[in-house]
Amino acid sequence: MKRKDFVLAVEGLTVSFDGFKAVNDLSFYVEEEEIRVIIGPNGAGKTTVLDLICGKTKSTHGSIKFRGKELTKMTEHAIVNEGIGRKFQNPSIYEDLTVFENLEISFPRGHSVFGALVFKRDAEVIAAVEEVAETIFLADSLDKTAGLLSHGQKQWLEIGMLLIQKPDLLMLDEPVAGMSVAERKQTAQLLNRITKNRSVIVIEHDMQFVEDIAHRVTVLHQGKMLSEGSMQKVKSDPKVVEVYLGH
Ligand code: ADP
Ligand code: MG
Repeated sequence: MKRKDFVLAVEGLTVSFDGFKAVNDLSFYVEEEEIRVIIGPNGAGKTTVLDLICGKTKSTHGSIKFRGKELTKMTEHAIVNEGIGRKFQNPSIYEDLTVFENLEISFPRGHSVFGALVFKRDAEVIAAVEEVAETIFLADSLDKTAGLLSHGQKQWLEIGMLLIQKPDLLMLDEPVAGMSVAERKQTAQLLNRITKNRSVIVIEHDMQFVEDIAHRVTVLHQGKMLSEGSMQKVKSDPKVVEVYLGH
């Protein structure tokens, strides 16, 4: 079978915590502009997979290649610089700052600027903040203190703080947990909007949401891949029904 170009190739990935293999010989491939959703029961190793990709946890065996570059030996910081952004389960925004300021401080610093260039840069930052605010449904809330946003809006803001860094691979861990049905629908819309030249990996339990966004689904169980394919395919896989969807 001919494979489309993939951005991320995970092969034989294993991590052992005191002999317990939280991720066990896992291989999967994510394509350009794909939204991949990882599902599976609690403790399956989903979050650990993201920890391994972003370098927070070091693998015991295996390889993670991003656009052909091996990530397993790189620092977290270097991995961010390669273009990988990751959102954790709990939003980490600056509650006392405004939406604008939260986005502004997330704008990549780049090289130092001098004199006349500062104005140009200010205009660039403002344009980027406004563009991202539009994408995350917060264009009318730029001056609002982030602490006053709804739970869902805080989640979007954190996604925005990643988007402003223009990652090529964005990873989100349970982004719609605690959101209203309407906010979940909007989040699906948001994700479907941002895949131009970008791949997204999402961990989620909400099957309606998964259905709304997933190009392909990878099902994890006890650190291993249980099933993979379209939502339709994994939903009707008896192994998946037995260990996950049946509950
Ligand atoms: P999921 O996100 O699918 O619910 P996790 O990846 O968080 O699962 O955890 C998978 C398993 O690995 C769990 O049994 C968890 O307790 C264990 N685990 C995760 N991180 C560590 C760690 N740093 N040290 C020891 N055990 C860990
Ligand atoms: Mg988890």
